[in-house]
Amino acid sequence: MRAGLDFAVPSQRRRAAELVGGTPPDSRAQASFTRRQLRRAERVEIDGKMVHPQADHGTIHGYKTYECRCTPCSDANSRLVQLQRAASRAALDARAHALRPAAARTPLLLGLRTHPRPAARVRHPLPPGGHTMTMTEPREFRKRPVVIEAMQMPEDADPPASHAVYLWVESNTAGSFEPLAVIEGRKACPASGVSLDPRDGRMIISTLEGLHWVDLGDWVIRGVAGEFYPCKPDIFAATYDAVPA
Ligand SMILES: [Zn+2]
Repeated sequence: MRAGLDFAVPSQRRRAAELVGGTPPDSRAQASFTRRQLRRAERVEIDGKMVHPQADHGTIHGYKTYECRCTPCSDANSRLVQLQRAASRAALDARAHALRPAAARTPLLLGLRTHPRPAARVRHPLPPGGHTMTMTEPREFRKRPVVIEAMQMPEDADPPASHAVYLWVESNTAGSFEPLAVIEGRKACPASGVSLDPRDGRMIISTLEGLHWVDLGDWVIRGVAGEFYPCKPDIFAATYDAVPA
């Protein structure tokens, strides 16, 4: 009986849709909700983070659609948040800048304007397909290929190979930092840099989002903005193809 009650409303909608023609009005939202629930359930916990195996890691799509919380996806989200903050700051600055000279020249008390107000709109740096587009039909999009650089930590402790990875990060960041002071919170985390954890010898990469530990076998990625972050080997294999030399 309960089930009958639960299904009463959707079946009425379906019936109405059959009579009028077309799909039930709530079917798309329902399908998207179901997909979301499925994707949440498909995530696996890796290093205490919920990771979706099929997510396009390192993208905002991976973070939002697949709710993947791996380091590359979380970093992509942090970068987007930073971009959005920078864009709204720029928009505010542009508006303040546009208003200042106008205010100086215009007899505001009389409500008169000697010049038309300059356009102060700053375009939002969202990719096409971002939520600012108005659409009535789905369109197809292809993700732009992004080329990153990467080096893999050796699977087992191999000092020359791991040293090469360390030197690569060191020479492209603020360099080495004293690890314990940062790990123990006595010093602020540098915006970029590299160090070794004296407790277990793991490499540590410092980023704007905090410290990232690199395990043996992990890949170290240098992203499009020159930022470094580690990536698990299975995720790396599923996400990247080598660019032919
Ligand atoms: Zn991910």
